[in-house]
Amino acid sequence: MNLDYTEIMVRYGELSTKGKNRRSFIMRLAENVKGALAAFPAVTVKGDRDRMHLYLNGTDSKPVMERLTKVFGIQNFSPSIRVEKDLDVIIATVQALMQKIYTGSETFKITAKRSDHEFVQTSDELNQTLGSAVFQVLPGIKAQMKRPDINLRVEIRQNGAYLSYETIQGAGGLPVGTSGRGMLMLSGGIDSPVAGYLAMKRGVEIEAVHFASPPYTSEQALQKAKDLTEKLTPYVGKIQFIEVPFTEVQEEIKKHVPQGYWMTITRRMMLRLTDLIREMRRGLVIINGESLGQVASQTLQSMVAINEVTATPIIRPVVTMDKLEIIDIAQDIDTFELAIQPFEDCCTIFAPPQPKTRPNLEKVQYYEERLDIDGMIARSLAGLKISEITPGQNSQQEAEFADLL
Ligand code: ATP
Ligand code: MG
Repeated sequence: MNLDYTEIMVRYGELSTKGKNRRSFIMRLAENVKGALAAFPAVTVKGDRDRMHLYLNGTDSKPVMERLTKVFGIQNFSPSIRVEKDLDVIIATVQALMQKIYTGSETFKITAKRSDHEFVQTSDELNQTLGSAVFQVLPGIKAQMKRPDINLRVEIRQNGAYLSYETIQGAGGLPVGTSGRGMLMLSGGIDSPVAGYLAMKRGVEIEAVHFASPPYTSEQALQKAKDLTEKLTPYVGKIQFIEVPFTEVQEEIKKHVPQGYWMTITRRMMLRLTDLIREMRRGLVIINGESLGQVASQTLQSMVAINEVTATPIIRPVVTMDKLEIIDIAQDIDTFELAIQPFEDCCTIFAPPQPKTRPNLEKVQYYEERLDIDGMIARSLAGLKISEITPGQNSQQEAEFADLL
């Protein structure tokens, strides 16, 4: 008997509580699910008020479910088998299914629900009938009403009978995009990809902004930032990657500003540029990976001096986390190994030996007068390179590369 899953029933997360936004949340989630499942064209998605249904149409359920666990806005989901609405067929399927999953020690329970009231048996009668049918083929099995190991749900709907016994935890959060768009300042480090992930979890659609200073920073450092971005794409399907030329800014700062202020003024320039890019790209906020107290740039005094260049809200998802907590998440989302590869980014290379941990704002403004800030910003923005990053892009590139060998 064919016991392959035919459908996956998805339960919404928090979005159910969001009153009148509900419709747009559900539509967005359906879009995101379709994006995440783009590699499986046979799967169809239908979202209704209370649940979303994915019809597998012959697609293997395993890789589909793997991708589903990364889509934000899903509380949990249950794969199910749809069979004909015929009592004998249902009995035979329940028996076969229990024989397949029972390993000799589990307790079980049947939870039947008759949504189609024309069906020959009521929910209670079905529980009885199907329970006895299980005892017939597995005489040793024990029934247990409270917290059974196997809870086999049987739902009789208009278009068939649905059997399910597994519930898989979803990623929670809100559907990406429902909170608007933000610019993620993405370095090659551990913190900013985690910050991007956490912002996406709360529904923010991100675009990655990366500052590169060739030839001081290498092609590998740039590739690393793109690879980190790719690690964030399974949650959304695709992410725009914006490379910002930053060489001139760093050279000019080094030439005209005393060492103690390099870092503060460099960060202010990054923030000014990110904010203008945000405006061009219709973003609402900026997201970064700052974490309190890790390095000189991350004291509260530094934050004040850097933040002074904009009134745009800056979301700092990891600001109060300990390094180990951030690393835990980085490992979960598989960005850690990449992040610790030693390709220096622009900040490491131009890092002064003793940056000010308490920069003085008047001095900052005084030194900045020596720089052609508007000119440098205009030249940098003229050289932006925007590319779209999608899941599996690199493995694809590697495959092409292998072809050449
Ligand atoms: P990360 O691990 O994300 O590099 P960090 O702990 O090394 O963070 P900093 O180097 O002080 O901290 O950077 C603070 C934040 O500034 C980063 O998290 C990132 O958001 C932003 N940032 C730093 N360098 C770059 C860069 N080259 N391009 C884009 N954003 C950057
Ligand atoms: Mg860094």
